[in-house]
Amino acid sequence: MWLLESEPRRDWSSQEVGRLYKVDINIIALLYSSFAIQLTSSRLRYDQMKMPKQIKAHCPFCRKHTPQTVERVRKGQASSMAHITRQREFRANGIGNQGKFSKVPGGDKPTKRTNLRFRCTVCKKAHNRAGFRSGKFELVEG
Ligand SMILES: [Zn+2]
Repeated sequence: MWLLESEPRRDWSSQEVGRLYKVDINIIALLYSSFAIQLTSSRLRYDQMKMPKQIKAHCPFCRKHTPQTVERVRKGQASSMAHITRQREFRANGIGNQGKFSKVPGGDKPTKRTNLRFRCTVCKKAHNRAGFRSGKFELVEG
C-alpha cells in the first residue's frame, strides 16, 4: 500500500492520451515509410543488372580465354506439331479441365531467367552457359 502511495499519481485526461496516441501513430508511420523506401530502393538495385557486351571468357573450342560477344537468345518459332502445342489445342476445346494451361506460364515471379549465348571472336563458334535469375537485364558497351 505504501508503494502505491509513493508513486506519482498519473491521472491523464482523455485528451492528453489521445494526443500521445496520435504522436505514436505518426512516428510509426514515418518509420514505416522510411523503411519501405529503403526496401524498394534496395529491391531496385538488386533487380537491375548490367553486363558488358564483350567479355573475356573461356572458349571450349579454342581451349583458352578469348574475347567473346554476349548475345541474348531469343525464343524460336513454336512448332504446330509439338506435343505441348497439340495438348494446349485439345485443352482449349472446352473438353475437361484446363490443367496447367489455366496458369500463368512461368509463374508470377519478380525475376526472369536470362538466356545468354557467348560467341568467340576468334573461332566464331558459340556456346551457352547456365542462366541466372535477374530482374531488369541490360547489355552495355564496354
Ligand atoms: Zn574460340
